Amino acid sequence: MTISIDHLDEFHAEPHGISLVCPHCQTLTHLTAQAAPSFATLSHLRPKNIGVVFRCDACAEPVFLKFAAKAYAPQRVELSGNFTEIERPQETFPLTYLPEEAATLFKEALGCYAASCFNAFAAMCRRTAQSLFRELGEAGKLGLFDTLQEIRTLAALDDATLGTVRSVLFGNDSDPWPHQPMLDAESAGVLLEVMRDMLYQTFVRKERLLQAMTFRRFVTPAPAFAPAPAFTPADIFARES
Ligand SMILES: [Zn+2]
Repeated sequence: MTISIDHLDEFHAEPHGISLVCPHCQTLTHLTAQAAPSFATLSHLRPKNIGVVFRCDACAEPVFLKFAAKAYAPQRVELSGNFTEIERPQETFPLTYLPEEAATLFKEALGCYAASCFNAFAAMCRRTAQSLFRELGEAGKLGLFDTLQEIRTLAALDDATLGTVRSVLFGNDSDPWPHQPMLDAESAGVLLEVMRDMLYQTFVRKERLLQAMTFRRFVTPAPAFAPAPAFTPADIFARES
């Protein structure tokens, strides 16, 4: 992708423009540039990073992106294709199904992820896991470990990724330094999906199933009369003896 601001102050992103998941409407959408610094100012000041305001084509809310300046040419300023999203979509999870302490910790974890603080996110995921181990006991911890193995098979996680996730969630501060591996955007994304699935399997699925069953029993009409059994137990006993 070639991104630039030309000498007429026009913003270009070739060939397909800029698309991402909008932090406001959560839609994967195209963005239209609304405000970029002028070519003259950029050429004069030559900053290392350049901020551009876009409009989401789906919901019209503003989206701010930061680009590294790649080259200052006589007719245009070239920007790096790897931009930083200043506001990321807020990740959601039905936290009410989790034990109270774990819900508080995981909510902060999701906030860290949305702010692109991936190592803070991993640290809060470990605290969430530790809270759950305390809440569920040793059997619960083994159950969570089994769920991680299932996710590994289903999602075909490679050994290195599984090792990172396992070390974040099941490691502790007495492990050799560093106590916790460093995470980048990609491994944090995998960790987020593992946490989601593990917490869903352990807490949300069972509760929702129980609620659905209770609802079904409640809405099923009671029969007008109980049909008489063809034989009473006494009949069967009399016939067999
Ligand atoms: Zn939007």
